[in-house]
Amino acid sequence: MLRRLVLAAAQNRSIERALTHAAPTRAVVDRFVAGRTVDDALRVAGNLVADGLLVSLDRLGEQVHDADQARVTAQAYRELAQAIAAAGLASSVEISLKLSSLGQGLSDGDHDLSVELAREVCAAAKEAGTTVTVDMEDHTTTDATLAAVSTLRADFPDVGCVIQAYLRRSLQDCRTLAEAGARVRLCKGAYREPASVAFTDRHEVDRNFVRCLRVLMRGNGYPMVATHDPRLIAIASVMAVQAGRAKDRYEFQMLYGVRPDEQRRLRARGERVRVYVPYGSEWYPYLVRRLAERPANMLFFARALGGRK
Ligand SMILES: Cc1cc2nc3c(=O)[nH]c(=O)nc-3n(C[C@H](O)[C@H](O)[C@H](O)COP(=O)(O)OP(=O)(O)OC[C@H]3O[C@@H](n4cnc5c(N)ncnc54)[C@H](O)[C@@H]3O)c2cc1C
Repeated sequence: MLRRLVLAAAQNRSIERALTHAAPTRAVVDRFVAGRTVDDALRVAGNLVADGLLVSLDRLGEQVHDADQARVTAQAYRELAQAIAAAGLASSVEISLKLSSLGQGLSDGDHDLSVELAREVCAAAKEAGTTVTVDMEDHTTTDATLAAVSTLRADFPDVGCVIQAYLRRSLQDCRTLAEAGARVRLCKGAYREPASVAFTDRHEVDRNFVRCLRVLMRGNGYPMVATHDPRLIAIASVMAVQAGRAKDRYEFQMLYGVRPDEQRRLRARGERVRVYVPYGSEWYPYLVRRLAERPANMLFFARALGGRK
């Protein structure tokens, strides 16, 4: 019930305005979102890097409805790559890219425009000395996104992709990607998906996560274990040892503001830990999704809305 209310608030622009300007809620926003601008994002990234962490920057932009907007977004990503290099952070900070933000599905002659634009972003990232990971969105885009990554990897072999453990197809996708030696971020999955394509029981999702992880750890690629789940983190550490992987041949990934103590604890143990840092003008729906993931966060949110700490 509370979760439904919070998710409904994601659509509400007056709550967004109140959250942006009220002092008590500023702290809530700042915990999960780096700020609106590239400078904000690089300041937060620089602090995380100084703590020994790696970063993936997630640009929260406007929805893209036509080719012109998609080209403007691609230009913003190219500038982001240059800014990462100018800040001297290219060896520790990469870019997370959503193909929907580059107009996935819009065609440009015979081509999917998003693939052409993603190629330009990957080239800019390479020039800057950093890498790109392509986020995974809802299941209707999985085939197109994996095909895009496969195309991009021909020229940019270090382009990463994401596999969602809740999808029934994912074990087979992991086998293909592990064989190909790809960088693969494994996460549970964040979209509301039908039972025809996804496991809906969380224990089944966890079991599939473990099956996928085993394939990735034993494979030729670079596994990126994206979860805050203590049991899965412990299992991943054991599997890495069993697979004979040195600590620089896989990494953990977590969201900015979620379990920051655990991020540093893993780092102190010698693990590579990458923090996914969102920034940009469209931060509000992202923030509400994070808050809705945990009852404790929702209470924090509800109290902040009421003007109390
Ligand atoms: C780096 C990164 C990139 C991602 N990229 C994508 C993507 O491209 N596509 C996609 O669909 N999804 C993506 N996700 C989101 C992901 O699919 C999940 O929705 C999200 O990470 C929550 O899943 P979880 O594995 O943490 O498990 P959950 O089941 O949500 O949480 C498991 C446990 O983690 C602990 N925990 C979780 N949150 C907190 C918290 N706030 N404070 C303290 N403990 C907590 C608790 O013990 C909880 O029981 C990404 C996630 C990460 C971390």
